[in-house]
Amino acid sequence: MLDLILKNGTVVTLSEQFAADVGVADGKIALVGRLGDVPAREEMDVSGCFVMPGGLDVHTHMQLPFCGTVSADDFVTGTRAAACGGVTTLIDFAIPGAGVTPMEAVVRRREEADPKVCIDYGLHAAFTKWTDESPDQMRELVEYGIPTFKLFMVYRNEGWMADDFVLYDALRVAAERGGMVGVHAENVFLQEALTERLLKEGKIGCEYFPGSRPDFVEAEAIARAIRWAEASGGTLYIFHMSSGMGTDAVADGKRRGVHVYAETAMTYLQLNDELFKTPDGPLYATCPPIRRPVDNVRLWQGIADGDVQVIATDHCAFNREQKAMWEGNFSKIPFGMPGIETSLPVLFSEGVSTGRIDLPTFVKLTSANPARLFGLYPEKGSLQTGTDADIVVFDPEKVVTLTYENLHMNVDYCPFEGLAVRGYPIKTLLRGKVIYNGTDFVGQPGDGRFLKRGPVQPL
Ligand SMILES: [Zn+2]
Repeated sequence: MLDLILKNGTVVTLSEQFAADVGVADGKIALVGRLGDVPAREEMDVSGCFVMPGGLDVHTHMQLPFCGTVSADDFVTGTRAAACGGVTTLIDFAIPGAGVTPMEAVVRRREEADPKVCIDYGLHAAFTKWTDESPDQMRELVEYGIPTFKLFMVYRNEGWMADDFVLYDALRVAAERGGMVGVHAENVFLQEALTERLLKEGKIGCEYFPGSRPDFVEAEAIARAIRWAEASGGTLYIFHMSSGMGTDAVADGKRRGVHVYAETAMTYLQLNDELFKTPDGPLYATCPPIRRPVDNVRLWQGIADGDVQVIATDHCAFNREQKAMWEGNFSKIPFGMPGIETSLPVLFSEGVSTGRIDLPTFVKLTSANPARLFGLYPEKGSLQTGTDADIVVFDPEKVVTLTYENLHMNVDYCPFEGLAVRGYPIKTLLRGKVIYNGTDFVGQPGDGRFLKRGPVQPL
């Protein structure tokens, strides 16, 4: 006896799509195929819809203390919104403050998240300094279930910056343990000096923000990090890649056989820096910035060519009131944008509904690739029998006009406000349980679990 059958849908995996029913029992995928008279406690007719593995958002910042405030979505509201957008797993960050080890930061972050999360989650461990103990700390984290590490090539003043040796060495050590190093890639010297010069010249308005960290600032750092991955034999992940020039650098690295992977976000694919000239400019300010239409085009091409493998969000929501702390000076903007709830719908609409990408590519970008790279596949990111029944059901004809008022993120604007998307989640299941019913979140805080992850699986 099954718990649930999703009937008459089209199942989509990373490699194919086919008409099939999906049977769920004890939170796992039990059967996929024509299930006919197989008995079940509940049946849901999903004809005309796509049944896909739930989304993974491997880049979020819930309740992050930043710029003297805290990001507006906590682990309840952020994961609730995730569920309403078809996301069933996220990976957030444990960033150690002064005098705290990476493992201590993980334990603290779990204390914040474990009782609250409505979906499953993991953590990346950030290394904000690199000492003789760091290799052992990395080994301990891998054994604990954290195989992915974040290093910042910027944020020197905050004391977070990893220099070239640290990057090289961390890549080397992580590789020995089956892990991966992800970087925030920007050239700190250029970024700091360009910012300082603009401020000195009185060019402090939001329209000057992109000039403080142009595309070459990102692209140089990406190319340099790729060089260290090549030299060390490590595996490198580029968080929030924003530029065409950065995409070129990744494509070049891949041609040389370097183990490098890149993530971008729907904001980088669909929005451009003209927005910084509008009164709402600061709402769109993140690091790195959204760029020009040519960068949008190049990133889409990167997806088509397989040089960009993951769509994530860098979800870091600040309300208008928090953003107002910028007081007319771009260097004081709390950087970040919400996105966890709109990422899958906007990608589906702008990617699948327009014919830019096919459905298996959608599954790869949002689910299978992040699950593999971050050590969760096939438990997450697949619909293989015996694995977690994390499922999103997409109605490809459902048209929704995005507005913050109808979304569940705890933030009073939406970067895609007014955009009519074609294709929207109508059901989200976490380990077999419906947590989004097409209108409302129907799960509970604490439904989610911390995920101990395995080694990185190369794509
Ligand atoms: Zn981030």
